[in-house]
Amino acid sequence: MALAITAYGTKVLRKVCDEITKDYDGLEALIDNMWETMYEAGGVGLAAPQVNKAIRLFTVDTVQVFEGMNDEDKEDLFEDEEPIKETFINAQIIGESEEVWAENEGCLSLPDINGEVERPWAIEIEYVDRNFKKHKRTFTGYNARVIQHEYDHTEGILYVDHLSGISKRLIKGKLNKIAEGKVSARYRMRFAK
Ligand SMILES: [Zn+2]
Repeated sequence: MALAITAYGTKVLRKVCDEITKDYDGLEALIDNMWETMYEAGGVGLAAPQVNKAIRLFTVDTVQVFEGMNDEDKEDLFEDEEPIKETFINAQIIGESEEVWAENEGCLSLPDINGEVERPWAIEIEYVDRNFKKHKRTFTGYNARVIQHEYDHTEGILYVDHLSGISKRLIKGKLNKIAEGKVSARYRMRFAK
């Protein structure tokens, strides 16, 4: 079942999320619903606060994007790394590269807005997957960017927080409109008001 996506302005998007255990109530269904919600909305990632749950859980699928890219973009954005389809639970970023790169980002909670965000090229992250199997992995490029965007959600951070002062001022009016529910998306949203 596709869930409503929380819009900019809802309090849950600003919470530092809690870790969960295997016996978190309804976890299996929640994860399934998040995958469905993400695909229905056309996202490459979705974090639990975006479905109104302040827990450390997010989904990422870069496979479909990878498959739609030309060879040059694949080489630039993935280098030799495989695209991923993964559920991240209780993730902690434990290292990041000094090398950074800027790229345009958007977010399902902030429809009709884009902005260029500078992020580390590579990260090291510890997490458990949906079977609570532990992983410690390094991701680079596009994979690392999507993971960092979703990870930020579990820290109560939105990509617009990373924008430069002038970019923030330019989108302020649009952000206020979203917070007031004055925006339409082709998926179901949950607004603050
Ligand atoms: Zn987002």
